[in-house]
Amino acid sequence: MAPKLPVYMDNHASTRVDPRVIEAMLPLLSENYGNAASRNHEFGWKAEELVENARGQVARLINASPKEIVFTSGATESDNLAIKGVAEFYRDKGNHIVTQTTEHRAVLDVCKHLEKSGFDVTYLPVARNGRIDLDDLRRAITPKTILVSIMYANNEIGVVQPIAEIGKIAKERGVLFHTDAVQAIGKIPVDVERDGIDLLSISAHKLYGPKGVGALYVRRKNPRVQLAPMIDGGGHERGVRSGTLNVPGIVGLGKACEICQKEMADESARLHVLRDRLKDAILAGLSDATINGSMEHRLPNNLNVSFAGVEGDALLMGINDVAVSSGSACTSATLEPSHVLRALDVPEDLAHSSIRFGLGRFNTEEETDYVAKRVIETVKRLRELSPLYEAAKPRSGS
Ligand SMILES: *Cc1c(COP(=O)(O)O)cnc(C)c1O
Repeated sequence: MAPKLPVYMDNHASTRVDPRVIEAMLPLLSENYGNAASRNHEFGWKAEELVENARGQVARLINASPKEIVFTSGATESDNLAIKGVAEFYRDKGNHIVTQTTEHRAVLDVCKHLEKSGFDVTYLPVARNGRIDLDDLRRAITPKTILVSIMYANNEIGVVQPIAEIGKIAKERGVLFHTDAVQAIGKIPVDVERDGIDLLSISAHKLYGPKGVGALYVRRKNPRVQLAPMIDGGGHERGVRSGTLNVPGIVGLGKACEICQKEMADESARLHVLRDRLKDAILAGLSDATINGSMEHRLPNNLNVSFAGVEGDALLMGINDVAVSSGSACTSATLEPSHVLRALDVPEDLAHSSIRFGLGRFNTEEETDYVAKRVIETVKRLRELSPLYEAAKPRSGS
């Protein structure tokens, strides 16, 4: 059966807002329009109550306490607040930060910024499977290190880092541990206690909530983490993040977290099956298709494949009724191969020929089969048009 087109399979970039989340948010845009900071009337009290309820919903999903949740405008802000906030507050303790090469730009660019103001940053390499080496981490930490920032799961290749081990090393060495958990939250179980996490970034629009809202988990005991605020003002969020709270967004984030907590186990199992169905169909239908990153330590909803002999952008255009992403970063005017794939030592031409598939809550089996079929027929067609690929092809039998 042909699915309704176009098919959306780019759920690492953003997700559709769950109808149950929209339903929870709507009253906040109509009758409950109070400011959560208004202390002297019913409108304010109601808004505050809803915000505190959402704080509990977010906290429960990661085994935190509600007081440890700071609402932000999204994970870019959470990453900035975590890293710059620690850097500024603990500057007297040291000026060294450890991160790794396949982080999101929201972490890498913050580190680049801090390097300009006197911080030293170590960017750990990753192995071909996309994971850091824990011995590299141990060696990188010095008496001047104040923070380790390693993402939970990667947004391009879905590779999950050894987070609990990293948390343990950070704790042993008395260093704070921040993780950008945007892609992991709601897909795999995340537990700040089990994993030894001190700071953790969340974004609502990656888990079927609205855009422009997120949260930062900030540990309050063992140790109590302190942050220099990045935004000064009315002293909201315990003075760490001033600004009138985005009540509809926060309520949406809370509802989205509650749904993930209830449905994550079943949903992830279902997406795992669909993802493997997509992978098996593509690998059976095409030669010279290679998976990027570990299949073992990977989010259940991610697939990243390089198709030798094909330009990623030509492939994307060829399958224009399917929404996926290519391995070329279109963040800049020039077309650069993805820094993540390059960090895995994927050759530049193969990095340009790679596609990221991000499955999500609303994808069906029909859609998965349709995407596999379209990718296979389009890669075959493009390869037939490519004299270079035809010439380089090993002569096999026929
Ligand atoms: C999307 C994303 C971000 C940025 O989140 P926003 O809420 O869009 O600012 C940060 N890190 C990772 C890993 C992401 O996937």
